[in-house]
This record gives sequence, structure tokens and C-alpha cells, in this order.
Amino acid sequence: MRICVFCGANNGHDELYVRTARALGETLSRRKIDVVYGGGRIGLMGQVADAALAAGGRVIGVIPQRLDEREIAHAGLTELHVVESMHERKALMAHLSDAFLALPGGFGTLEEFCEAVTWTQLGIHDKPCGLLNVGGYFDPLIEMFDRCVATGFVAPVTREIVRAASEVDAIVDALIAPLAVPGRPLLSEEQI
Ligand code: AMP
Repeated sequence: MRICVFCGANNGHDELYVRTARALGETLSRRKIDVVYGGGRIGLMGQVADAALAAGGRVIGVIPQRLDEREIAHAGLTELHVVESMHERKALMAHLSDAFLALPGGFGTLEEFCEAVTWTQLGIHDKPCGLLNVGGYFDPLIEMFDRCVATGFVAPVTREIVRAASEVDAIVDALIAPLAVPGRPLLSEEQI
């Protein structure tokens, strides 16, 4: 199994975020789950990768050529795919993975996570999406998702695409459980 991890290119102000990113890397390695991520060695991205590799895990990076200068590709990955664009990056990360997990991060993390959710919503894939809600970081986003349902903009069954847990093992368990979204035909990207 492979989990695609979206997370900040920064570490955040609270040491808890770095500790949790490292715990995630170690846990995925221990549970023999490969990490797919943005390929950089900075911020929480680098922390997840370093911790997983140090624990003997497999880490696959996907980085756009131009971003390589800014995010600095990690030199010790199991595999590094260098692609042309952000769009290619997201498509390949999705293709390589069985589920998606967001850790604390900024606009990039939120954009990548929400796009993965919409691809499940549209039936481009049927992969679960999870939020590692460490320190309540994602509470406002979870509240927003519930508000989308309460106001009639997201169907309750679609809301179930997104799981959340504050503990590392709990969110990994939640992502291993398959989605039960009835009757959704899977579409290819070309069909969209
Ligand atoms: P951030 O959460 O803003 O620190 O960004 C985390 C990661 O998301 C970084 O690797 C960014 O390069 C990446 N990112 C930002 N915007 C996008 C985008 N539109 N598509 C794909 N990745 C992005």
C-alpha cells in the first residue's frame, strides 16, 4: 500500500507539528506502507521523508523541475520523479497512491488535499482522503466540510470521503478502510 502525504513546505511554529510528521514517517515505515509525497527536503515534507527513510521505509517523491530549486529535492529517496508541471505532479502522486493524507500545511497542502477529494467525488478514483488533525489544526476545515453538508452543498455520502483523526495510527487505520460510495462509475481523467 502507498499513502500520498500532503504537508507544509514549512515546519510551523509548534514543535508538535515536526514531532507528528516524524511519527507519521516512522509509523508508515513500521506498517510497510510506502510514502508518496512532493519530493522536497524542506518543512514537514522533509521531516516525513527523513523519518520514514531512517526507519527503513520506502519514499517516492514527485517534484516539478522548476520547484526543485525552491523546495530542493531530497537526495536520498527510494524513487524521485521529476515532472514538468504542478498538474503533472498531482496526477502522478494520485496515480501512484491508494489513499491521501494531509498534515498541517498552507495553501499548497489545502489545494492538493481538496483536489484529491474532488477526484474521489467525481469518480476519477475511489481513494479515501484523511486529515491528521494534530493539535486541532484542521478543526475549522472539518467544521467547513460539515457546514457544506448542513447547507446542502455536499451530499452526506460524499462527506464520508474525508476521514479525520488526531492520532497517527488511527488515521492510517481509517485510510486503509475502503470507501463505501454506492454506484459511482469510475471515470478516466480523459473523460473529464
Ligand atoms: P504549502 O502547504 O503551501 O507549504 O505547500 C506544500 C506543498 O504544496 C509544496 O510542495 C508546494 O509546492 C505544493 N503546492 C503548492 N501549490 C500547489 C499546486 N497548485 N499544485 C500542486 N502542488 C502545490
